[in-house]
Amino acid sequence: MIFKTLLTLSLVCTGILSGHTQNMEFLKNKVIAHRGAWKATPHPQNSLASLQEAIDLGCEGAEFDVWMTADGVLVANHDADHEGMLIEEVSYAQLLEKPLSNGEKIPTAEAYIKHGMTQHQTRLIFEIKPSGVSKARGQELARKSVELVRELGAEKWIDYITFDYDIGLKVLEMDPNANVAYLTGDRPPADLKKDGFFGFDYNINKLKENPHWIKEAQSLGLTVNSWTVNKEEDMRWLLEQEVDFITTDEPEKLFSLIRQ
Ligand code: MG
Repeated sequence: MIFKTLLTLSLVCTGILSGHTQNMEFLKNKVIAHRGAWKATPHPQNSLASLQEAIDLGCEGAEFDVWMTADGVLVANHDADHEGMLIEEVSYAQLLEKPLSNGEKIPTAEAYIKHGMTQHQTRLIFEIKPSGVSKARGQELARKSVELVRELGAEKWIDYITFDYDIGLKVLEMDPNANVAYLTGDRPPADLKKDGFFGFDYNINKLKENPHWIKEAQSLGLTVNSWTVNKEEDMRWLLEQEVDFITTDEPEKLFSLIRQ
């Protein structure tokens, strides 16, 4: 009896400890796979297969883009359209009529996040796309995005990025602990700090125009990310400056530089 109790206790403790350890195992290697890892594979961008490839490569993060259909479903896709259908103007059911090139259905943000939550190594970089219809619709997408992440209990997996400053502010209003980075490249680090952003994620060319922003951001405790960095010389420049993240279509190349 005593032995059985001890055995049960030890199994429970092991379960708790392993669960705890898993939560602490998100990778730290700067490599963010842009739209998942797809370029060296047959996988379409923003597919669950490209997310899984980023996970299998051991990327720190997998970035994905989110739009809202006319009937309010959040879907992962880079462009405003899917196979000629404007996502904001059609229903999710209409999008399903055209599968991705690998046969997957266009993933909902929910499906994408749930897939990411099956592991604890690669985080999910959730880009909230500005609405082409109205600013208000962008705000609604921001609200629904934060609600979805909350419902799924996915906060630990998610960093947000956006080109729309007001979408970033909306996310922070709803979840002041959220990590939100700004993409457009027209704000100095001090603005982002003042407004509660996590950092910036600027185009590599914007950073070359304003290289001092890297140190400024770092001295303010902001994170530095850059997109979309596919040239080896740019990767090396950013690594030398010890940026936090590098967003690339070629994670394999970046890993080969980091591991040299
Ligand atoms: Mg994106």
